[in-house]
Amino acid sequence: MQELVGALRSYAWGSRTALARLCGRPVPSAHPEAELWFGAHPADPAHVKAAEGTRSLLEVVAADPARELGAVADTFGTRLPFLLKILAAEEPLSLQAHPSSAQARAGFERENRTGVPLDSPMRNYRDDSHKPELVVALDRFEALAGFRDPHRTVDLLRALDVPGLNIYAELLAAQPDSAGLRTLFTTWITLPPAALSTLLPAVLEGCVRYLSGKGTREFTPEVRTALELAEAYPGDAGVLAALLLNRLTLEPGQALYLDAGNLHAYLRGVGVEIMANSDNVLRGGLTPKHVDVPELLRVLDFEPIELPVIEPALGEDGSVRYRTPAPEFALCRFDLSAEAEPVALADAGPGIVLCTEGTVELSQNGRVLTVARGGAAWISAADTDIKARAIGGPAQLFSACVGTGN
Ligand SMILES: [Zn+2]
Repeated sequence: MQELVGALRSYAWGSRTALARLCGRPVPSAHPEAELWFGAHPADPAHVKAAEGTRSLLEVVAADPARELGAVADTFGTRLPFLLKILAAEEPLSLQAHPSSAQARAGFERENRTGVPLDSPMRNYRDDSHKPELVVALDRFEALAGFRDPHRTVDLLRALDVPGLNIYAELLAAQPDSAGLRTLFTTWITLPPAALSTLLPAVLEGCVRYLSGKGTREFTPEVRTALELAEAYPGDAGVLAALLLNRLTLEPGQALYLDAGNLHAYLRGVGVEIMANSDNVLRGGLTPKHVDVPELLRVLDFEPIELPVIEPALGEDGSVRYRTPAPEFALCRFDLSAEAEPVALADAGPGIVLCTEGTVELSQNGRVLTVARGGAAWISAADTDIKARAIGGPAQLFSACVGTGN
C-alpha cells in the first residue's frame, strides 16, 4: 500500500470551494475545481508516493502488472480497468450518453480509419471501451437521467400551457413509448435555428408562468431546471430535451448508475464517481465542448425508465456495497466510528481506497499509512491483510476495486 496523490482537473463547471474544503486547502480556490482523478488514465494519472520518489500509477502498473494487478491482468490486460474520481459540480455538465462496448469498438475503429487524431476535440471515441459509471452523493446531488415515463412528460408539456408545444405533446400522447420519445427528442435536438428561436423562448415563458401560478405545482423541480439550463446555455436545444428526462436528487450515500445509452446530465453536487477507464462521451448539447447529435442518436436508449438509483446493500464486514453489473469496478463504503476496532479490507487490492471524512489509519503487518480527508492509497494485488481504523473521530472510506459484474 502506498499513498496516492490525485490529479486535479479544472473545468468551468467546477467549484471553487468543494474540493478545496475537502482536501483542507484555502477557500476559495484560484480556479473552479471540477474533478480529482484517482486512477491510471493516460490523460491524467494519479501519482504514487514512495521512498524512492513519486511515480505515476500508470508507470507503476506498467512496470510490474503481475505484481500490481495480479489475476486482473488476465482479464483486462496491463491497465487498471477503472477510474475513480471526486466530482464537484457547481454548474450543469453536458447532456451526454456513453456507448456500449460494441459501439465503442466500432466507433474507435471508424475514427482511426478516417484519421481523426486521438487528441482532437472533434474525436468522439478516444478508446475502444464502454463507460458505465456510478456516482455516490457526498452531499445533495442533482441530476437528469433516463427518459421519463412519456405519460408524465405529456402531463408536464400540457401543464406548461404553451400553444407552440401542443403539437409535440399530442405527438407523444399518440405514441407514449420509446418510438414516440425517439421522434420527439430527434425533432427537438435537430430543430432548425429559426424554429428553435421561436419555440424555446415561448417554452421558457411558459416555465416562468407555471412557477408563478397557483395550485399544485408538481413539476416545479423539472421546470426550474429548464430555466436554469437556459440561463447557463441560452438558445440550446438541450434545454427542450431536458424536459424529457427524469429529474432526481440524491441524498448523501445514495447512488446513480448509468449504463450504456442512458441520456444524462449532472446538474450540481459533490460525489464519488467510478467508471470504466474510458473517455468515450457523446454529447447532445448544454456544453461548449464537441457535440455530435447524429452519433448520440445512434447510441441512445429511448426506453423510458424509473430513476436509475442504486440502493446500497450492507456487506458482512459492515461496509455499504453499491452493486452494479459493470465488470470493471466495484465500490463500497466504510463508515468507521471513532475508537472502534480496525476493519479488515479483504478485497481492496488491486484497487484504491479514498478517505472522504475524518482521518483513516491503514495498517499492514506493522506498517502504517495515514490517509486524511481527500487523500487516497494504492493497494496492489500483492498487498494483503490490510486493516483500516478511524483516528481522532469518525471517518469515511471508499474502497474501489475490480468488479465481478453482479
Ligand atoms: Zn456520463
